[in-house]
Amino acid sequence: MTAQRAARNAGRSLDTAVTYLTGVGPARADALRRLGIFTARDLFLHIPHRYEDASTVSAIAKLRIGDDATVIGTVISKGVIPTRKGLRVFQAVVQDSSGLIEASWPGQPFLDRAIRKGDVLLLSGPVRFFHGRVLAPREFVNLGPEDSANGTSGGRVLSVYPATEGFSFKQLRALIEKHLDEYLPLFKEYIPTDILHSASVPTLPDALRAVHRPRTLAEAHAGRARLAFEELLCVHILQLRAKALARETRAGIRFVNKRVLTSRLKSLLPFELTGAQVRATREIVKDMTSPQRMHRLLQGDVGSGKTIVALFAALLAVENDYQAAVMAPTELLAEQHARTFSALLAPLGLSPLLITGSLSARERKAAATRLASSEPLIVVGTHALTQEGTQFARLGLAVVDEQHRFGVEQRLALGKKGARPDVLLMSATPIPRSLALTLYGDLDVSVLDERPPGRQPVTTARRPEKARAKVFDFIDAQVAKGRQAYIVLPLIEESDKSALRAATKEYEELRTGRFAKRRVALLHGRLDAVDKDDTMRRFRDGEIDILISTTVIEVGIDVANATVMLIEHPERFGLSQLHQLRGRVGRGAEESFCILLGDVSPEVAERLEIFVSTDDGFRIAEADLQLRGMGDLFGERQSGEPTFRVADPIRDRELSELARDGAERLLGSDPGLASKANKPLHDVLAKRYGRALELFRVG
Ligand code: ADP
Ligand code: MG
Repeated sequence: MTAQRAARNAGRSLDTAVTYLTGVGPARADALRRLGIFTARDLFLHIPHRYEDASTVSAIAKLRIGDDATVIGTVISKGVIPTRKGLRVFQAVVQDSSGLIEASWPGQPFLDRAIRKGDVLLLSGPVRFFHGRVLAPREFVNLGPEDSANGTSGGRVLSVYPATEGFSFKQLRALIEKHLDEYLPLFKEYIPTDILHSASVPTLPDALRAVHRPRTLAEAHAGRARLAFEELLCVHILQLRAKALARETRAGIRFVNKRVLTSRLKSLLPFELTGAQVRATREIVKDMTSPQRMHRLLQGDVGSGKTIVALFAALLAVENDYQAAVMAPTELLAEQHARTFSALLAPLGLSPLLITGSLSARERKAAATRLASSEPLIVVGTHALTQEGTQFARLGLAVVDEQHRFGVEQRLALGKKGARPDVLLMSATPIPRSLALTLYGDLDVSVLDERPPGRQPVTTARRPEKARAKVFDFIDAQVAKGRQAYIVLPLIEESDKSALRAATKEYEELRTGRFAKRRVALLHGRLDAVDKDDTMRRFRDGEIDILISTTVIEVGIDVANATVMLIEHPERFGLSQLHQLRGRVGRGAEESFCILLGDVSPEVAERLEIFVSTDDGFRIAEADLQLRGMGDLFGERQSGEPTFRVADPIRDRELSELARDGAERLLGSDPGLASKANKPLHDVLAKRYGRALELFRVG
């Protein structure tokens, strides 16, 4: 308390501009600005990106050529040496208790002024061979003269900060160190204690002390965790609050659960719904019968049976005299849904309307007339549904299948075809729950995490290149039994000509060679949509035995007779992508096979082993996420990902779950964060996130 009063008396506040700190002149203030540091608060929230301690520092004598190491040693000699090419190299010989090594900085003669004989340096970088061992520092910290640097090398944890030109690690560290004690008391905890407790993270002042001046690495990490938790908590609060407010202002259609058509469909189904399907359907019915618009994402692994769930939702709309639209990314898939629906709905006296780009003018006109007539019906189609000419008289439900294949505008356009229709998005890309919450914060999520019964798991195996002939024999035997097979080749980009050539070449070889007696076809992204659909259609109708393809094979396509998925160059695919491909087979009663063919490195083999050993799409997605990051899971980065300074939404997923729970608890009891206990948090949110003020406005 006295420290705080002293600080206030001295006119200090966290909003003080860094220029007012002793030790910061105009040049340094400029450098700090480049690091995003404007105020004292910013300075203390600039946290180390890594730490060094005895456990990460190597003994100089033990360094081997090729190592990448960190050492701490005293400069025993130094100088600038010109090279023949006119480059000036700064060199220093550093020594620790075990031995000495030369360090060399080409093109940095100015370091001769910054580093003195007797200074203790922390160096990290690769050890190279050049007339002996030479360390090529990637980074270094000058810890100062030997006597004052004592203790740092002697077991303490050293903080290493992101630095910039004109402001070294050491200077930053010294600046923070110098002012930490004065300013720390000004940082007030604003997150309620029980929320901090439930995540086992320290308070803000403790965390800041721990990240800047840790006694142990564990302490530093705990401090970092607190700062990451805080960021995640704030984002979750904003998302939950935005969602709640959106729901309030999201007046929609209140459907009545009449149980007329839906019950009849249930009794007519050739199978029992899985528990997950029942659960998801119930969640959807609850949304649709509430006065708010539904915004729900139905997420389920390939083959988990999303289509039927969508059909139940559509029937609920129809029995309320509304129209329901199901949009699919390709004509083929739209047709498939139309067929499925036709078969299931015939006994109910209903038939779905199909609208795609390839309808004739006459068909299109007939369809338009039906749509405009306010007849309750189910419409299946491609993005043609969103086009201007397509007008719905009474759209009550918009379903978007394989939603990630549509742009945001297309998804929105369908919703705009009616007066606030309920919206159901469906996706087969399994996204771990925590990530789904971060990415789709404004959506409710239902998950189909159960597979329909009786489905045999696909037998999955890796085979080396030398087994190629045997693998082809196996495919031939399957075809002889009347089955069909896919052979998939990687294609990095649609414009990848060499991959295209590879696919074409393999096709020609197999068509004229090993599979000359079989009906073989080639499918790739360069074909136009009509040819592509035509080929897929012939495969579906059993007119093609073996389909050689790049990764363009239809994601949602259901060909029960296909029993082999052969994947060439499996190392070029992400695990989730492999899993999507595997989902093309195993859809019928026959045993199905997924074969990864080719020689791969031991590391790749290890990665592929995860895929071979499980057919749980969520586990695979988790593994993919850890191995390759979020971008690869989706094929591209999602826009609008929240950005964080400290938190990493992937690595800190557990923390994110805790933060989510905390946010739910906070808002559950105090939706506007208006209570006295929550006011500090509310104020920080409002200040930090500007628009949060809007989100929190009541009425
Ligand atoms: P996806 O979730 O990949 O879109 P689909 O909806 O295409 O999956 O369903 C895959 C297959 O499983 C379809 O042939 C469908 O008829 C069948 N199916 C769906 N639900 C069940 C169930 N409860 N029991 C048995 N088969 C089912
Ligand atoms: Mg599907």
